[in-house]
Amino acid sequence: GQCANVCPVSSITEKYEYQDVRNAIADPDKIVIFNTSPSVRIALGEEFDLSGGSFVQGKMIALLRKLGGDYVLDTNFAADLTIMEEASELIERVTKKTAPLPQFTSCCPSWVKYAETYHPDILAHISSSKSPIGMQGPTVKTYFAKKMGLDPAKIVNVAVTPCTAKKFEIRRGEMNAASKYLDIEDMRDMDYVITTRELAKWAKEENIDFASLKDSDYDSFMGEASGAGVIFGNTGGVMEAALRTAHQFITGNPAPADFYNLKSVRGMESVKEAEVTIGPLKLKAVVIFGTKAATEFIRKWRSSGQTYHFIEVMTCPGGCIGGGGQPKGTLLKGDELRKERIAGLYKRDDEMKLRNSHDNAEIQQLYREFYGQPLSRLAEEMLHTNYIDRSKDLGGKTMEKYRCKICGY
Ligand code: SF4
Repeated sequence: GQCANVCPVSSITEKYEYQDVRNAIADPDKIVIFNTSPSVRIALGEEFDLSGGSFVQGKMIALLRKLGGDYVLDTNFAADLTIMEEASELIERVTKKTAPLPQFTSCCPSWVKYAETYHPDILAHISSSKSPIGMQGPTVKTYFAKKMGLDPAKIVNVAVTPCTAKKFEIRRGEMNAASKYLDIEDMRDMDYVITTRELAKWAKEENIDFASLKDSDYDSFMGEASGAGVIFGNTGGVMEAALRTAHQFITGNPAPADFYNLKSVRGMESVKEAEVTIGPLKLKAVVIFGTKAATEFIRKWRSSGQTYHFIEVMTCPGGCIGGGGQPKGTLLKGDELRKERIAGLYKRDDEMKLRNSHDNAEIQQLYREFYGQPLSRLAEEMLHTNYIDRSKDLGGKTMEKYRCKICGY
């Protein structure tokens, strides 16, 4: 039931979908497009005896091409898009009071569903921006399909993710924005989700020698991403990425150097608080992972009456790098392994020239040619969503009745 969709430790068996994707590849009438999340490239190598935190982006793309994908796109591109929308939304809330503060992030479907069930009173606080996968889906089936001359109805969109809960997210009723926009019936924005572990299992079944694959690159138009998109995969990453862009949008100037190594929001503590000055604004930010820590924070915030502006919540320990669909680790385990993966993503961000979502030339082109500007009418239709009060699913019982015997929450 619900736990299968929100359980961060994968204690409930995940449903494999890679056989469906394999069937789509075998169908000459289908166009299979893979979209890879930030954390897959930092963990996939572990399934092939590489050390924890090895950055295997090039081999991962080569693998997806070898398995028969027609296109390989980067969900980090949509992470940049999410930052454009979410930072703009935050600025509107702070400066125009369009919705209540603090703004909570929305990119973790387990957190969103948990809040819908246990904290429906905060739904107006959750950013209406869809997650990167939620934005990648409709953008592929509209903008990308048009640019490439593809029939959207033939596209099979596959998200490759660290996350078992994304299997629930892509099937939410409202994740069919492209269907409405193009007036094509029964079309989902994203068709399948396969996890890092599923991808490795599939590759092993095909006897693909991962280590000998030659690096490949993403397809263009939705393949370029910034370092801000890369760090989306770990705790504090969404916060740091959003603050870089918020700084540019509020002041008109690039963020100072410390926004590119924002120590106060980095690391494996489950709650990290930071005060950030952007032009005339002093923003109070909190980064949380784990639903238990989120509930404790919400209680503290409600009772203290303190003003907060922006709260990042991820369910899994360390963020998506510790997702339920990631390899379990061989040499390293637990926080040691998570720290290696986090270090791998920060290292990649650090090495990149492009560090800001708003500087991504493909993102700028997408707004010029399609969405207009962040929070435009079309952007609201395609890239934003709303949430459902699911507290009635508890049937009037208390949270205690649902305490999980495995994770204790
Ligand atoms: Fe999925 Fe990431 Fe949330 Fe874990 S933290 S449930 S991997 S979105």
